[in-house]
Amino acid sequence: MKHKQEERCPQQIVEGIAASSGIAIGPALVFGSNGSAVPQYDIGEHDLEAEMQRFLASVESAVAALDKILEVQKKDQEVDGGQRVAMLESHRLMLRDPDLHDRVQELLAEKMQNAEWILHTSIQEMVEKLGRSTSEYLRERASDLQDVERQLLNALMGWQMPDLVNLDSDYILVCDDLLPSQAITMDKRHVLGLAMDHGGKTSHTAILTRAFEIPSVLGLRSISAIAQNGDTVIVDGSSGTVVVRPDAVTLQHYRQKQKAWQKREVRLMRYTQLPAETRDGKLIQLKANMEIPEEVDSVLTHGADGVGLYRSEFLFLQSATMPDEQMQYEVYSRVLDDLPGKSVTIRTLDLGGDKLFPGNMDYHEKNPILGWRAIRFCLSETDVFRTQLRALLRASAHGKLRIMFPMVSGLEELNQALELLREVREELLREAVPMAANIPVGVMIEIPAAAMISDILARKVDFFSIGTNDLIQYTLAVDRGNERVAYLYEPFHPAVLRMLTVIIRNAHLNGIPVAMCGEMAGDPLASLILLGMGLDEFSMGAAAIPEIKHIIRSFTLLEAEELVGTVMEMKTHDEIYQYISQLMEKRFDFTFGT
Ligand code: PEP
Ligand code: MG
Repeated sequence: MKHKQEERCPQQIVEGIAASSGIAIGPALVFGSNGSAVPQYDIGEHDLEAEMQRFLASVESAVAALDKILEVQKKDQEVDGGQRVAMLESHRLMLRDPDLHDRVQELLAEKMQNAEWILHTSIQEMVEKLGRSTSEYLRERASDLQDVERQLLNALMGWQMPDLVNLDSDYILVCDDLLPSQAITMDKRHVLGLAMDHGGKTSHTAILTRAFEIPSVLGLRSISAIAQNGDTVIVDGSSGTVVVRPDAVTLQHYRQKQKAWQKREVRLMRYTQLPAETRDGKLIQLKANMEIPEEVDSVLTHGADGVGLYRSEFLFLQSATMPDEQMQYEVYSRVLDDLPGKSVTIRTLDLGGDKLFPGNMDYHEKNPILGWRAIRFCLSETDVFRTQLRALLRASAHGKLRIMFPMVSGLEELNQALELLREVREELLREAVPMAANIPVGVMIEIPAAAMISDILARKVDFFSIGTNDLIQYTLAVDRGNERVAYLYEPFHPAVLRMLTVIIRNAHLNGIPVAMCGEMAGDPLASLILLGMGLDEFSMGAAAIPEIKHIIRSFTLLEAEELVGTVMEMKTHDEIYQYISQLMEKRFDFTFGT
């Protein structure tokens, strides 16, 4: 990739949502990826031939791009048993498919519209046909076709959709949107930072950049139109600022800020091996959230007491086909083996919402966030669920496993999930498969309905884990990934705080501990309140642990309880936020805090 520094355009500063702290400076790699609109316009008789030629040229350029990727992937086949190579080869065949070419020619002449729109229409027709097929294999091909459409559109419109899995050098990614499935598979060694038009602070793409310690700013609205390939870009993920084509003074300023940030990180690492204990002796469990097994090193170096949330669905997002029992067993047991003596909470599949399984990309819902996700998906696709439960129970022999179910909205769902778990356990006992004798089972409280019946749910499980990312989204009716309503996504909204106190009280009255694994647990401004409310366990992106530990070690439990007494009297998010900010600023250097 050539870097083209735009000297004509002056520096531009854009403010967005601070999603992952730290400062990154580097050349932009700009691309429009997902949902960009397909242009539609009429053409004249004399344009017909030129449009067809444009289409054929796009096929050649898409095939050439694919061949390059294939060359790299073929050297690396053993990674996934050659699945990716097979998929790319099938895409190559589809690009050259004479039926597709004939249909495009036919429709061009019939509709007299531009090649992009005709291509889109032809592929949609084929996708719909495949979607109606009774063969699962053919239905799965529909998502390949859509992938091929995207490749051709990129070529037709000159969009850059680089191969993010194999980057050739270091970049700041600048795009309209990056799906969690793309973020999990991107070449992390070469991604310095991310600047994106869409997304909110608790979207899964944001969570992944924090997990990978990649500075990011989301919700920038039009950054993908402002920056050009090769422009120098600064991403300040702590303040939420992005600078495109910085002048010399600005560059110098951010280089100094970057050094100060790195020094601060080193300072905080002093706390990693100390206990998370308040000044009056209350010991708190600080655990890490994980998405991929490779994060184990980060979990250990940041001093986590265990894993409070392992998002098992990311294993599915990285793979073109459903991971089978053996593959899942190997991944889960590897995580348990790598963390001897530490408790590891693996959450059962939370696919759906913004986490679409690549093999199911053609499945669309009007309201995916309220749709067929997590436990709802698992309770209807029981084969998939049983396979996962078998893999988990087998892996339990390797360490201290805890299992928890996501997105439970009522007792019926919890009972069904527990019953399936019991059946699978008996099946394995009959097969004499070694398993741990006691595996604590918990439920995520992330739907207001579950919070309101938490007294009922608490009698059925061994622990709760509060998923504030979803709980806030559903309580305040604010899509956590939508930058337009991000200003309403308020962790300190009195409704949210009241709900937290209800959950914690109901858990404790029924004798079970409460964890929190939503992003609020790693928010330095929230930690005192959560401590004062009686939360037993905090689980967060590993990199946040040292700072939260530092805060917990600086206060007494009594101070935290008094703070809760004060803020619960307040009426608005702003009032609470201002009060805590001032309190924390007096005690700490929060210039860089997120
Ligand atoms: C949550 O909702 O808070 C949570 C931890 O789950 P996820 O972010 O994966 O939806
Ligand atoms: Mg959730």
